[in-house]
Amino acid sequence: MDNLTLSFLHTVLKEVQSKHDWKASLDTLFTSLRGSFVFDNVVIYLEDSQSKSLDITYARAMGRGKTAEADAVWGERVATEVLATKKMVLKEPKHLGRDKDRLAQPHLLGMPLNIASRICGALVFIRFGGPEYSDLHIKIASLQAFWSAALIERRDLQEARTELDSVQRQMRLQDDFVSTISHELRTPLGFIKGYSTSLLRQDTKWDDATQREFLNIIDEEADRLTRLIEDMLESARLQSKTLQFKFSPVRVDALVRDVATRVNTHHPELKIEFELDILPPVLGDGVRLSQVFENLFSNAIKYAPGSRLKISTKSLGKRVLLAFADEGEGIPEDFLPFLFERFYRVPGERTVTGTGLGLYICKQIVMAHHGKIWVESVLDQGTTFFIELPADPTL
Ligand code: ADP
Repeated sequence: MDNLTLSFLHTVLKEVQSKHDWKASLDTLFTSLRGSFVFDNVVIYLEDSQSKSLDITYARAMGRGKTAEADAVWGERVATEVLATKKMVLKEPKHLGRDKDRLAQPHLLGMPLNIASRICGALVFIRFGGPEYSDLHIKIASLQAFWSAALIERRDLQEARTELDSVQRQMRLQDDFVSTISHELRTPLGFIKGYSTSLLRQDTKWDDATQREFLNIIDEEADRLTRLIEDMLESARLQSKTLQFKFSPVRVDALVRDVATRVNTHHPELKIEFELDILPPVLGDGVRLSQVFENLFSNAIKYAPGSRLKISTKSLGKRVLLAFADEGEGIPEDFLPFLFERFYRVPGERTVTGTGLGLYICKQIVMAHHGKIWVESVLDQGTTFFIELPADPTL
């Protein structure tokens, strides 16, 4: 091979490798060698490991012909033969040139794709109306097949790594959850046990005010336990999709005000400001939506203590938008993508009690309404949760 060829191949290889997206890498691979190897369409077929059917993984039309997908039918027969024989398949039209319609004369070249030490796909080139594939063309095609297989193997490895990361994160969260939940269950139980034992002591007489105080603590801690258990059951039902929703037209602006009033009776220190647009009703489950709002209020109280909470609503035609903005410490950007995952708590969040279920529950409820929930946060400025819901289509 002369220096020119080597240096050209080096440039192509570098460019193919530099692309982050496997499809972009394949595009570069096929377009950059077209100076030496012209074809109209290229299709990559991969065998589905379970059904054994052939799926089109990549298709690109370069020249004559219709679309890459439309011509993929030509290629499928060749790909099937490649997989059956595990060898290159060359199909040239029988009556070269006689037929004027070049599109009716596909020259097909199929190359086996060896991915993870197994022939499990085919790279098929289609050339309408010739010329026939030369030895050089076949060599280039074989190089491209080798390269494509490596790129697909790299894609598969990347996907497997992402999945593994997510499973590992879930396992870590599950571990954390067990220790969090045992703490969360033990704390209220400890209070209930401690104060009721004190009240039952024969040798001590408590005055009325103290008795009331103890009973109040027992009452509050029992409520906390109930909430915790409800959250756990609810998140399990949401995950198994067995939670029932009762949909009817709901005015979310009125609903959010009601919830705010309720929250304020227990937490008068929370300063809530409203900027409410009149909204069209949404088709929703009022009880579940209240639960979402309660969670966001409760998080503002827990994680942005002393801050104002501004609630705004906006009508976006067929959708409504709600925003809950606090002026707390904010959340570091790196943690934002995981906030709505089950059991996720921002690392180091150990002083404030919680289970990491609240935002997961919110997201599942909003999704059951065909809506979206997301968060934006700026350190030292505050956190805003947004909820977008579709307006009731029947009204
Ligand atoms: P929990 O409150 O039980 O930990 P959530 O799912 O409600 O679980 O919240 C997940 C995490 O998101 C919390 O642990 C907290 O670190 C963070 N977070 C939620 N809301 C806010 C907020 N308004 N400001 C700062 N951090 C928040």
